[in-house]
Amino acid sequence: MKSIRLRAGKERSLQRRHPWVFESSLQKGGGDPGETVRVESHEGQFLCWAAFSPRSQIRLRAWSFDEGQRIDAAFFEARIAEALAMRKRLPIASDALRLIHGEADGLPGLIVDRYGDTLVAQFGAVGVERWKSAIVSSLLKQTGLSRLYERSDASARGLEGLEERTGWLHGEGATELTIAEHQWRLSLDVATGHKTGYYLDQRDNRKRFADAVRHYGCKRVLNCYSYTGGFSVAALAGGAERVISVDSSAPALARASAHVALNGFEPGRHEARDADVNQTLRGLLEAGERFDAIVLDPPKFAPTVAHAERAARAYKDINRLAFKLLVPGGLLFTFSCSGGIAPDLFHKIVAGAGLDAPADGYILERVAAAPDHPQTICFPEGEYLKGLLVLKRG
Ligand code: SAH
Repeated sequence: MKSIRLRAGKERSLQRRHPWVFESSLQKGGGDPGETVRVESHEGQFLCWAAFSPRSQIRLRAWSFDEGQRIDAAFFEARIAEALAMRKRLPIASDALRLIHGEADGLPGLIVDRYGDTLVAQFGAVGVERWKSAIVSSLLKQTGLSRLYERSDASARGLEGLEERTGWLHGEGATELTIAEHQWRLSLDVATGHKTGYYLDQRDNRKRFADAVRHYGCKRVLNCYSYTGGFSVAALAGGAERVISVDSSAPALARASAHVALNGFEPGRHEARDADVNQTLRGLLEAGERFDAIVLDPPKFAPTVAHAERAARAYKDINRLAFKLLVPGGLLFTFSCSGGIAPDLFHKIVAGAGLDAPADGYILERVAAAPDHPQTICFPEGEYLKGLLVLKRG
């Protein structure tokens, strides 16, 4: 078993059970991609078992802080069992959910989503890549499912020195599926959709939105960065008379329109606009349009803290325009899924946008990802999605 020695003082984050060690913390030692290594403090004290990643800035990802733990197939079996048991206890109003959420489930780099009878996995680090066959067998055995599609095409694979790979790992057949979320039916394609096919993390927020649209009687709704229209369907279910979905992906918009029909709503109540959101917001303002509710769910503007400043300007700009487009008493449901933007910073950005609009608002709710995308106490980086539901003051 190879050992890694850390520099003096660099043991602290592992002692707090944070699972990452950056390259600059290593004193000596190495290993092959994904190899299990013993990590020790400068003084030689055991810290954790970890997967070694020779190419990544995140040089080590901890598997276990227990010196007696063997990292073998049984270890992965147990971690998967724990993650599945946790999901069983959650109230999830869907047949689609996240089963494994990487670091939060003690499996750094692994994402597994379930869409009905189909599993979709993303192996995003060399550690889980090395244990892929044990992980796959265990997933199939424990879920009792036979279809598992791989979507290892996230950009993070490159940082780990891994090639992209997509395709069936087990089973075969159609990659186009329909799921039931809340009382809605939604379709997706696990081969071509974003991420693993759909944004499961917004499930509970779509329901919140439907409820808020109904409660506050919102009639004209603008869904920005709509993807396949999850929030648009929610708005229609909440009684909106007219919903505009804006996205720069034509296939996503085609699916958004299909979802309107699939859920029995009159197609004339929905309009899909294939356009840039920022430009669209400006155009709508110039045209004198106004809305009762607006959703802003942009892509990750700041993947890391280093991008935060530029991203902050982009967030502020769209939020300012949205405040202007809202009627007094209108609802803004605004999100950031950037790991590099902390919740308090996001709050400040939205406050700044309000000042510039100018508009004030009541924060009705602060929201995060659905609980099948858990956050753990030891891993603050896991807190990526945050949102504010704001009622514009009149
Ligand atoms: N709200 C969605 C998820 C949004 S993901 C849901 O509930 O499923 C972000 C979306 O923003 C993606 O669909 C992407 O195509 C779109 N997008 C990215 N940049 C854009 C831009 N400049 N203008 C419009 N859409 C954009």
